[in-house]
Amino acid sequence: MNSCQQDLALELAAIRESGLYRQLRRLDSPSGTVVELEIRRLLNFSANDYLGLANDPITVGAALKALERYGVGAGASRLICGSLAPHHELETALAEFKRTEAALTFSSGYAAAIGTLGALLRSSDVVIIDRLVHACLVDAARLSGAKLRIFAHNDLEDLEQKLRWASQRRSVAGAGAKPRVLVVTESVFSMDGDQAPLREIVELKDRYDAWLMVDEAHATGIYGPRRAGLAEACGVGDRIEVQMGTLSKAIGSSGGFICGSNELIDLLVNRARSFIFSTAPTPASAAAATAAIRWIQSESGDARCRRLWQNVNCVRSGISERRSELVKRRSDGDCLTNAGAIVPLIVGDEQAALEAASQLRKAGIFIPAIRYPTVARGEARLRLTVSASHTEEQIAQLLAVLSSLNLRFEI
Ligand SMILES: *Cc1c(COP(=O)(O)O)cnc(C)c1O
Repeated sequence: MNSCQQDLALELAAIRESGLYRQLRRLDSPSGTVVELEIRRLLNFSANDYLGLANDPITVGAALKALERYGVGAGASRLICGSLAPHHELETALAEFKRTEAALTFSSGYAAAIGTLGALLRSSDVVIIDRLVHACLVDAARLSGAKLRIFAHNDLEDLEQKLRWASQRRSVAGAGAKPRVLVVTESVFSMDGDQAPLREIVELKDRYDAWLMVDEAHATGIYGPRRAGLAEACGVGDRIEVQMGTLSKAIGSSGGFICGSNELIDLLVNRARSFIFSTAPTPASAAAATAAIRWIQSESGDARCRRLWQNVNCVRSGISERRSELVKRRSDGDCLTNAGAIVPLIVGDEQAALEAASQLRKAGIFIPAIRYPTVARGEARLRLTVSASHTEEQIAQLLAVLSSLNLRFEI
């Protein structure tokens, strides 16, 4: 081993020792409700494909048509010659879906976050984020160079305190552009499945003359009367300056997006570096996403979504019934009251979470352990997710395995 390899091997050994070592698992099947993993067939309760659209004739058909017409690669970045019709159709569909003036797509949600915060914030500005926002928003906030403040998770009082500090700071700022204050949160949190108090946050940011960016990665497509997201469900879509989301979860494709005013989108086209300096997403993934967004708003989309919530209720009530055997209630809340498709089964210790995931795998269920740095240290968990594609039998099997194994969860 040369010194580079030795150095890296030491670091890897330390990661292993702390129970935080991660490994890729090769699937030889689509990432559906049943997956082929290491020659075994396992029931999958870990995907974000809430509506089963990642492998559905609706999306696959649209992608195939686009493949035939436009080929595999976009050939260049959007601002050179890669801005193909499927990208524009997708952005029109997104703006209609979210009822905003305009939309812009990125190659991933991660790229959307990095590009957008970088474009909107300068070093004299302030960005205030919820403690539990996704890593891409944390990285984006840090990279932006703006003053970063973190408010306690979903804590309106703490948010108000940070907003008050920012507005005082603004009032003493010298001549020049007025410093911007941007609040960033998620609508449905990715690792806990709970919801931000969006109405109250909108009131607060308006009162303090701040802007709001909401990441709807886990809500787009499954919440609200038209399934546009939690902002739609709360009736505050038109009061959020920056609506972010991803096409890779309920939409079933890949890519990230921002919806908002014409000015916002125009500025991002001009300033978002992850948009400007990156090859346009494949036209097939854009076409698949457009088909998914249209279909989600149709009657059969509505039926699929209702199916998802039936499945969610089934899993949650099944776990509730068995909770005396397998769950120890957390003192600070009860995830079963947050009726989302993400059910975190909190184990706590990292090694114990790995052990629980391994027991489940042996029993035919795939739910990997989620550990630091995805969640805080000592909050390792099995992040169980439910899809509309799970059958009653599959859910019954999950519940049977959960109660047969002697696992301890906090919930
Ligand atoms: C998955 C996720 C992202 C990143 O989206 P990708 O398209 O996978 O890059 C951003 N925010 C949240 C909350 C997410 O869960």
